[in-house]
Amino acid sequence: MATSWQKDIKEKARAPLKGNLEAEVIILGGGITGTVSAYLLANEGKRVILLEAETFDKKGATPDTTAFITHVIDTALPELVKLFGREKAKGVWEAGKQAVEKIEDIVKKEKIDCEFTRVPQYEYALSKGELKEIKEEVKLAKEFGFEAELRTGAPLLFAGHNLTQKLKQVNIFVPSEGIEPPSLP
Ligand SMILES: Cc1cc2nc3c(=O)[nH]c(=O)nc-3n(C[C@H](O)[C@H](O)[C@H](O)COP(=O)(O)OP(=O)(O)OC[C@H]3O[C@@H](n4cnc5c(N)ncnc54)[C@H](O)[C@@H]3O)c2cc1C
Repeated sequence: MATSWQKDIKEKARAPLKGNLEAEVIILGGGITGTVSAYLLANEGKRVILLEAETFDKKGATPDTTAFITHVIDTALPELVKLFGREKAKGVWEAGKQAVEKIEDIVKKEKIDCEFTRVPQYEYALSKGELKEIKEEVKLAKEFGFEAELRTGAPLLFAGHNLTQKLKQVNIFVPSEGIEPPSLP
């Protein structure tokens, strides 16, 4: 399935630069990091040049993203605490929350038709070990002031998954602000 980067961007590449240009900021790389940085800096009044080595649709990770955005990053909160300490770990989640809010603001301001939708997030435990990790994550998330809830007996939200029988059916529920938990049977 083609992503928006692959099918919607009409101008995939521009001609190489001719001659010299002047700018206050030069950004190398037209993935999501480069384009958002260029956008934010240009909005602050900076003269920005964004240079992309390839074409917008083919290179880098951005064209393949599923565009799922969350402050719950792949490294679990307890692991973040072990690596960087409590304050920095909390800061990672807070930075993520602010980033999601910034994206939502930009979508509204620029009237971007990208179906931005806030949804609840679930993490399922497949083993006793994972259950222990999720319990620790919920505890820490609450201590840091984030909304998180441990539920037991919740069914899989995607019907017919062949792992259903193996699942401990315990999950962390991380609601986005303003989202009510769906009622589970
Ligand atoms: C299949 C897949 C699914 C994903 N799903 C998600 C998701 O759901 N949610 C999520 O948050 N993340 C997801 N990710 C990760 C996410 O896509 C990346 O973290 C993100 O796109 C990285 O963006 P970037 O701009 O930093 O890097 P890139 O998108 O890699 O952009 C870097 C750009 O720099 C250019 N470049 C490199 N060197 C130079 C140079 N010297 N001069 C000029 N240009 C240069 C490259 O050509 C490239 O276009 C997914 C990734 C993949 C592969």
